[in-house]
Amino acid sequence: MFEPVIGIEVHAQLKTESKMFCSCSTNFDASPNSNTCPICLGFPGALPVLNKKALEYGIKTALAFNCDITECSRFDRKNYFYPDIPKNYQITQDAFPVGLNGYVDIPLDNDVRRIRIKRVHLEEDAGKSIHEGGTITDAAFSLEDYNRAGVPLLEIVSEPDIRSPREAYEYLCMLRRTLLYLGVSDCKMEEGSLRCDVNISIRPKGADKFWTQVELKNLNSFRAVERSLDYEVRRQSQVVAAGEEVIRETRHWDEAGQATVSMRRKETAEDYRYFPEPDLPPLNITGSRVEEIKATLPELPGARRERFMRDYELPEYDASLLTDTQELADYFEEAVREYGQAKTVSNWVMGEFSRLMNATGIGIESVKVAPSDLAAMLKMIDKGTISGKIAKTVFEEMFTEGKSPEVIVKEKGLVQIADEEELIRIVDRVIEENGEVADQVRAGKDKAIGFLVGQVMKMTKGRANPQMVNELLRGRLIN
Ligand SMILES: [Zn+2]
Repeated sequence: MFEPVIGIEVHAQLKTESKMFCSCSTNFDASPNSNTCPICLGFPGALPVLNKKALEYGIKTALAFNCDITECSRFDRKNYFYPDIPKNYQITQDAFPVGLNGYVDIPLDNDVRRIRIKRVHLEEDAGKSIHEGGTITDAAFSLEDYNRAGVPLLEIVSEPDIRSPREAYEYLCMLRRTLLYLGVSDCKMEEGSLRCDVNISIRPKGADKFWTQVELKNLNSFRAVERSLDYEVRRQSQVVAAGEEVIRETRHWDEAGQATVSMRRKETAEDYRYFPEPDLPPLNITGSRVEEIKATLPELPGARRERFMRDYELPEYDASLLTDTQELADYFEEAVREYGQAKTVSNWVMGEFSRLMNATGIGIESVKVAPSDLAAMLKMIDKGTISGKIAKTVFEEMFTEGKSPEVIVKEKGLVQIADEEELIRIVDRVIEENGEVADQVRAGKDKAIGFLVGQVMKMTKGRANPQMVNELLRGRLIN
């Protein structure tokens, strides 16, 4: 049996106003080449100046992933020629990255897997080549847009600790969740603010040596990562089983064909010449600065998830879903503060609330139901003002109209009928109209009572207090 050995490099665009080494805007939707200057275009004599915010975000992220912060971090030039890098080198960090030797814990199948983070480093993005009317090989000509050139990126490199395609998927989810909690990146894969490259090899299960690895590109979603890895595990296993060797190469994920396709033989790292960037002095990240940044770290997703399980006594499933985003977790906690019973709030947030958000495509930031309104509605159920069934109708109205539950219940006449005399009248009518079923109940067929309760609910359009109806029916037919 073979086991996959997977390592992932993630590039996240940092959410700064200006570029890494100049004051140009990071908005690359602007008209082509409008956000450029002599620094990001690599004019002779132009000197880079480090964006303070980008460095702070880099340190913050490295700390969140439990890295050691490099006191004397430094920038390097990675030399290569490509039309989208105007300087003919990329400023990156080679030997002295901001963060080293970290880890992230990911929950998986009621267990926790620790994936080591090799390094976290800062670098600048390249520009964008547009191959007019075709691909790089058959286009008549290519255009360059340098709006993206010099935009700050953070590269997060894992050790080859990932052992299955699903683990890779969960690792990426945790990475994105953490970056979003930190507020350092938008993490929008479709807009390119989060990109990932994956390395995979296989080896006999339990072996400690690595076999030839393959790099996967063009991964546009976390699902694409998982599926391309599934495919590669199968393909490499077949290659080895046939007595052949896996070739070191870069393969492209073909979404339409659901297969990886050979792109080019992989150049080794030695093909790039790195040397220290002479225009940027080495950084001096002091211990007190690190402590200062550490103090700004929010409660991270893993810790919050565990606190939800501990303090609110929620099942792991609930805690994971509720802490998926900071906004959802905040919403939940605020509603619990007002209402008290965490599990009930959790059921509503994960149930009706999420269902309506999915159905309408409305994100949590635009939801009209305030946490206090959800709490108020839950209190109305407890008091018997509305039934649990009617509550769903009320909640849907709250969601679409943004009105308070009290107003909706009043406007629509949804107050629960808990008046015994009124209910007795209805119950008697239902017994009269369903004589046969009533006889079955009298004869001891207890299950048949459910049908009669249903009839009362139908007649009252769901407004009858079901518990009272049940008791009244029993009183009249059984006792
Ligand atoms: Zn610039």
